[in-house]
Amino acid sequence: MSNLEKLELLYSGKAKSVYKTSDPELLILEFRNDTSAFNGEKIVQLERKGMMNNVFNAFIMEKLQSSGVKTHFVKRLSETESLVRKLDMLPVECVVRNRAAGGIVKRLGIEEGRVLDPLVFEFFLKDDKLGDPMINESHIVTFGWANTEEIREMKARTYEVNEVLVELFAKAGMTLVDHKLEFGIGADGELYLGDEFSPDGCRLWDAETNKKLDKDRFRQGLGGVVEAYEEVAKRIGVTLP
Ligand code: 5GP
Repeated sequence: MSNLEKLELLYSGKAKSVYKTSDPELLILEFRNDTSAFNGEKIVQLERKGMMNNVFNAFIMEKLQSSGVKTHFVKRLSETESLVRKLDMLPVECVVRNRAAGGIVKRLGIEEGRVLDPLVFEFFLKDDKLGDPMINESHIVTFGWANTEEIREMKARTYEVNEVLVELFAKAGMTLVDHKLEFGIGADGELYLGDEFSPDGCRLWDAETNKKLDKDRFRQGLGGVVEAYEEVAKRIGVTLP
C-alpha cells in the first residue's frame, strides 16, 4: 500500500470524485468544494467544504469502525482525499428519521421537529434522473436492487449507526434529526457502509435552540454553511487543518 498510485478518474458525483488506484481493491475518494441541492439544480463552490467533509467523514468512519460497523474507509490520505475499499454499491439510500424534517414534513404533513418514536426508516432509489424516489422492500427485491439478506443487513447496520451517532452528537449538544447511508458489497462478499457521513447527508440541530447546523443552511439559503460545518466539527472534537 506504501507505493499506491492514484490512477484515472472512475466516476465524478455531485460532491466527490472517485479514482482508481494501482490496487484494484482500493479507490481514492476526493471531496470537492461543490455543493449541490435539489438534485443538482443549485450548485456552488464553498471554500474549505471538501476538506471539512473529508476530515469529518474520516472521524465518523473511524468511530463507527471502532463500534463494530464495517465501513469501506481505510485511511485519510490528504486534506481532501481518502482511501477506501472498492465496493459494488447497492443503488439504494437508507434514511432514518429520529425527528421530522425535510421529506417527511413535505410528504406527510408531519410537524417539523416532532420526535419520531419509534424512529422512521425509509428506502430511496439512488437515481438522479428519477429524483431518488421512495421505494419499499418489495420494489428492491422485485427489481433486483438488493436481496432480502442485504436488505435485512442494511437496515440493521443503519439502526446501529444511528444509535452510535445519536449518542455522539447528543454528548456534543446536538440532535441528529435524520441521515442517509449507502452500502455496498466488498470483494469478500461482505456488506460494508460506503459513501460518506458528513453534514451534507444528515440533519443536525443545536440541542438547545434547534439551530440548523447542516446542509439545510444551503438548501434553504440560510447562509453560514461552512461556519456551521466548522462548528459541528469543533463540538465533536474533530481537528480541522
Ligand atoms: P429528505 O428525504 O428529508 O430530503 O432527506 C433525509 C436525510 O437524508 C437528510 O439528512 C438528507 O440530507 C439526506 N439525503 C437524502 N437524499 C440525499 C442525497 O441524495 N444526498 C445527500 N447528500 N443526502 C441525502
